[in-house]
Amino acid sequence: MLLTEASAVEAVIKACELLEDDPRFNAGTGSVLQSDGQIRMSASLMDGDRQRFSGVINVSRIKNPINLAQFLQSSDDRILSDYGAMELVRELALPQYDPLTEIRLMEWMQERRGDFSREMAGVIAEKELVEDTAGRGTVGVVVLDTAGRIAAATSTGGKGFERIGRVSDSAMPAGNYATAAAGVSCTGIGEDIINECLAARIVVRVVDGIPLPKAFARSMQEAQQNRCDLGAIGLDAAGTIAWGKTSEILLAAYHTGDTIGDTLEWEDETLTGYLPS
Ligand code: ASP
Repeated sequence: MLLTEASAVEAVIKACELLEDDPRFNAGTGSVLQSDGQIRMSASLMDGDRQRFSGVINVSRIKNPINLAQFLQSSDDRILSDYGAMELVRELALPQYDPLTEIRLMEWMQERRGDFSREMAGVIAEKELVEDTAGRGTVGVVVLDTAGRIAAATSTGGKGFERIGRVSDSAMPAGNYATAAAGVSCTGIGEDIINECLAARIVVRVVDGIPLPKAFARSMQEAQQNRCDLGAIGLDAAGTIAWGKTSEILLAAYHTGDTIGDTLEWEDETLTGYLPS
């Protein structure tokens, strides 16, 4: 898409839809269940070029929450929560869709037997779950297009087994943020990401002149000192790509236009990595 001059916003939306549709990830189809056995999804889109954020919080019965965020980009009211988001689904006449998968239901039933003792569902941060088909997390995409515009999108089913009404970082600038200078998308325990205001923190550092790899390194060191469990991907306007984590693992991949790479082999103690532009 990008090679044929699609915009960064178009490309992040498409990539986010594909990941939402893949049942292995905790977003759209395959989202984790909340404590009451319901799926409530959150997604956001940030157009760095226009510096405009939009999102939905705790929406149900829809295939691609990112499409609601896409619609809200041009709306006066740009972040809608549960009731309002459902009204928007009705208004747009989007078909009803059940994102539940068997494996997520089994996971919830198992957890219910254990009285929801785990902190969160099998999303990220637990290495043994990577082999498990249910063990993949929130999805995030950051894009730089041929015109130099940046966009970021993040979509999640939440951390799993949470209280009704819990709000994820994924539809906040803490979890998804971009300007003309850089874009970042986060995953991990939402409360930790919010405490660090991670996406905005990294991006603002870049805006203030700190190179992206340093902005990642400093922010991840701080997050680790604060005992946070999180990860992030990002890029800057020059095309530098960076990633970071305080959690055990981070599953990320990049495409520069020429090269493709990923973080699948990244299991050591380093907090960050990057690919120069
Ligand atoms: N950040 C998400 C949340 O806490 C979960 C995740 O990234 O897997 O809602």
